[in-house]
Amino acid sequence: MKILVPVKRVADYNVKVRVKSDQTGVDLANVKMSMNPFDEIAVEEAVRLKERGVATEIVAVSCGAAACQETLRTAMAIGADRGILVATDEELQPLAVAKLLKALFDREQPGLVILGKQAIDDDCNQTGQMLAALAGLPQATFASKVEIADGRARVTREVDGGLETLSLALPAIVTTDLRLNEPRYVTLPNIMKAKKKPMETLRPQDLGVDVRPRVATLKVVEPPRRGAGIRVPDVAALVDKLKNEAKVL
Ligand code: AMP
Repeated sequence: MKILVPVKRVADYNVKVRVKSDQTGVDLANVKMSMNPFDEIAVEEAVRLKERGVATEIVAVSCGAAACQETLRTAMAIGADRGILVATDEELQPLAVAKLLKALFDREQPGLVILGKQAIDDDCNQTGQMLAALAGLPQATFASKVEIADGRARVTREVDGGLETLSLALPAIVTTDLRLNEPRYVTLPNIMKAKKKPMETLRPQDLGVDVRPRVATLKVVEPPRRGAGIRVPDVAALVDKLKNEAKVL
């Protein structure tokens, strides 16, 4: 079984991003970029399935600027077998990415697509669901456990009331939650090996997809600053403030 793993290049989770002065977006100049953490979990899960003999090939795909090649190399250092870059300088929204992935799904015919549940830059949490809808495939989002047997995926997912287990016919779409696994450290020998793995570059038009944005960003602003907190002497004072000052009780 082949597994397709989409990986997005995002501002590193340790970076405190700043809004550009013209409010058109966040400033990414000189900012450390990394693989979206949920996608690292997706690659790790695919590699574990390959190590267990369930998967035979892992294909990582990244859509965006040429620098996404670095993200693909990281995926290959974790254990993906090859990479596909869908190169474009257009701002990509989830629907455009889902359309590109649908085209690649048709071309590659994987048994499973494992995406992150959300990209930590825009926090959209849409691409996996849109891909499932476009491809007409079963989906299990927010997976905390994935088992494959008899042509089906058994996926445990975290829901408000506890854990839910779904059984999906393959091919299927799975999105990862934080507790699915802990990705391995990338070792230097594996980084070197990854440099020799095959990487293909396509353009959206090669896949017949129009990626132009369908939603316009009007402006981006910093969240309002929080004022300093105060200490209250006891619970009675706290309740009094909640009632009479904050008026939330
Ligand atoms: P989102 O819907 O934007 O929160 O992204 C959810 C998931 O879709 C990510 O964790 C990735 O697995 C995948 N994805 C989103 N954008 C891209 C992209 N430009 N290239 C590759 N994968 C992506």
